[in-house]
Amino acid sequence: MPKITNIRTILTAPEGINLIIVKVETDQKDLHGLGCATFAYRELAVKSVVEDYLKPLLVGKDVHKIEDLWHLMHHNAYWRNGPIINNAISGVDMALWDIKGKIAGLPVYELLGGKSREGVPFYRHVNADTLDGLVKKIESLRKEHVNHIRIQWGLYGGIAGDLNKPSGSEPGEYIDPVQYISDTLKMFDHVRAHFKDEIELIHDVHERLSPSNAMYLAKALEKYRLFYLEDPLPLEQYGWIEKLREQSTTPIAVGELMNNPAEWENLIKNRLIDFIRVHISQIGGFTPARKLAVLSEQFGVRTAWHGPGDVSPIGHAANVHLSLHSNNFGILEWWDFKDIMYKVFPGMPKVEKGYIYANDKPGFGIDIDEELAKQYPIKTRTTQWTKTRMPDGTLITP
Ligand code: MG
Repeated sequence: MPKITNIRTILTAPEGINLIIVKVETDQKDLHGLGCATFAYRELAVKSVVEDYLKPLLVGKDVHKIEDLWHLMHHNAYWRNGPIINNAISGVDMALWDIKGKIAGLPVYELLGGKSREGVPFYRHVNADTLDGLVKKIESLRKEHVNHIRIQWGLYGGIAGDLNKPSGSEPGEYIDPVQYISDTLKMFDHVRAHFKDEIELIHDVHERLSPSNAMYLAKALEKYRLFYLEDPLPLEQYGWIEKLREQSTTPIAVGELMNNPAEWENLIKNRLIDFIRVHISQIGGFTPARKLAVLSEQFGVRTAWHGPGDVSPIGHAANVHLSLHSNNFGILEWWDFKDIMYKVFPGMPKVEKGYIYANDKPGFGIDIDEELAKQYPIKTRTTQWTKTRMPDGTLITP
């Protein structure tokens, strides 16, 4: 049986976003696997967990024992389910699935039981500072056969007008909830009137509303027939989702902040959400995501895996393989990668006429050009966009 001989991280930022790739090497010539461990805002901590703790734990182990090795990594530090450790585990876990596929000579979706669909429908994010600008961007995506679109007027939280902030207020991204709600309703009115029922619409509250405001917005949005409303409440306030559900028929998607199965258990088994959209590396990789997909299927909850630019192309490939397979797939988020990403990561899934296609190569079918990746070094810095504040300066969830 092939054994693990080395585990290392490759840090690269071809688009300016810090990506963390894990490479698992084996004692068999040319047999290696790649996984995504991208926690773009704490990359050095993840690198340390992979190289200083997981590598010594796993060198010499049989590459085939993914399930056992996942539990070994998960329990080895005693304390578990945090984002740094989960991302580190994910890097190794995905790499082991990649290796298993290569040994079997099969794409990973075949290891799961095969495809439920040939291509994966996806949504694209659109934001603009004016409603006409928004409509133009949607029209351009429609020409590319993109039918599911997430619309935002301004960025998350909308465009705050002239706020009467207290003197000495800290800099940050300010949100005026009253204006945000009013503008969001105007936006949906405008976009629905323009496109009628031709397109599916998504909107991301990005956890920036109070529970009562989130309920008000979800109710008021009913008439615009959303595909889903994303993260209407912060992770810490999921206890309110049952009440929100009683108030509104707007479909709800949550999950990109989740780390721990305890955070999704009640929402799924009580059918309080329509879509689960975890960030797969954030929950510990492909192994727990596969289990979450199966659990969700039993309760009629569909998948919509988180897929922004701070998921690496390896992570996106894992999202695509799982989405090709799951019967309860709903939609996939897809990032409009720049051309350089297709060069640094040969074998990336391809987009054609509204669908994402994986190639049929064994494993996840994607590689990394390490020499090219070196030309795009990461930058370690403090995160700015997460400094979100109310008009009086109070920090809120970003
Ligand atoms: Mg989101």
